[in-house]
Amino acid sequence: MAHHIFPGSTLGIIGGGQLGRMLTLEAKANGYYVCVLSEHANSPAAQVADKVFVFDGKDLEVLAHFAKRCHIVTFEFEHILQDHLEFITQYVPIYPSPEALFLTQNRAREKTFLKNHHLPIVPFEIIETEEELTKALSVIGFPCVLKTADFGYDGRGQIKLLSNEQALFLLIPVYAQLKKRNQTYVLERFVALQTEVSVVAARGLTGEYRDYDVIENLHMEHVLDYSCSHSRLPINVKTSLRDMTYQIACALNFVGVLCVEFFITSDGHVFINEIAPRPHNSGHLTIDACVCSQFEQQLRAVCGLPLGAVEYHHHAAMVNLLGDLWQYASPQWMHVYQSPLIKLHLYGKNKAEEKRKMGHLTVLSSASSKEALTRALTVRAQLSLR
Ligand code: AMP
Repeated sequence: MAHHIFPGSTLGIIGGGQLGRMLTLEAKANGYYVCVLSEHANSPAAQVADKVFVFDGKDLEVLAHFAKRCHIVTFEFEHILQDHLEFITQYVPIYPSPEALFLTQNRAREKTFLKNHHLPIVPFEIIETEEELTKALSVIGFPCVLKTADFGYDGRGQIKLLSNEQALFLLIPVYAQLKKRNQTYVLERFVALQTEVSVVAARGLTGEYRDYDVIENLHMEHVLDYSCSHSRLPINVKTSLRDMTYQIACALNFVGVLCVEFFITSDGHVFINEIAPRPHNSGHLTIDACVCSQFEQQLRAVCGLPLGAVEYHHHAAMVNLLGDLWQYASPQWMHVYQSPLIKLHLYGKNKAEEKRKMGHLTVLSSASSKEALTRALTVRAQLSLR
């Protein structure tokens, strides 16, 4: 049954990171009251929310208070225990559904789901025992990459393996872990990438669906470095990526914003890398370049409201600002403000650690996303010049 949660109501967000912060800012702009469930009272989302519920991962009373205070709940990260979600749903609906999260929060389940739906994925093996690991290495071959099935992001929990000799050495701790039978891994073939792209889409409670034009991404050491709007892939390839994303959203009966990440290999094959059941780093450029951002879509979708327009009013490029930029001194922000077509987003993190996402820049262009990217990379390089 469709429900409408209008401005003035309370939106609950599980998670206190930058995605929750950007959703909170959007919800506040639309007149919602926002409660954030977060590990820290001063997390990026907590700083801008109306109310923070500090949750240590155990105290169910905090969960109950949070849930009772909200008219609708969503989440901004995947690492949430199913027990906690089930507990919250006693009081208030959660979108996307806990079932959709359950499937996408574990690589083994997600890949099995994609395989069962005959969607293209890199050859993989699921590993729970030492014997399975040895067998998987010979089936998949080299190069390959071993990933933990749970709790992996931005390359954490991944080991790239180039040869059998190297694998024997690098996998010693993994064999030890497998002995304890408490960790599942996925071994997948490491493919030669031509490019990586993503499709960000929103699906509403009534099945209404909208997606943004395909976004092109570059990762450095497994972390997203930059994204560009209006991918220049052939139109038929883009259409097939969009069709697959639609198929996934429907199969999950998804309500909210999701992002499907794809690998395009040097020999022209397309593989789905992973599904994020939430707004995605590669969709941040929609905040400044589109009529309706991925965060406004998330708000609309989970509140049972019609979706907004996904058209771009500018070409755009987004570059991430990682903690490394702060290594020697504060960035030289004047370079950002000297250009009227650059938008700065900082997430309020006070500790700049290596590889930590501290913020991003979006550069707009009326000519092309390539031009926007050149400008974005130049300005980012200037930020750390003395
Ligand atoms: P993931 O956390 O699985 O999304 O991996 C992060 C990044 O590592 C990807 O966006 C790719 O750039 C790279 N990567 C991961 N798995 C593979 C693979 N099987 N083949 C090639 N590159 C990969």
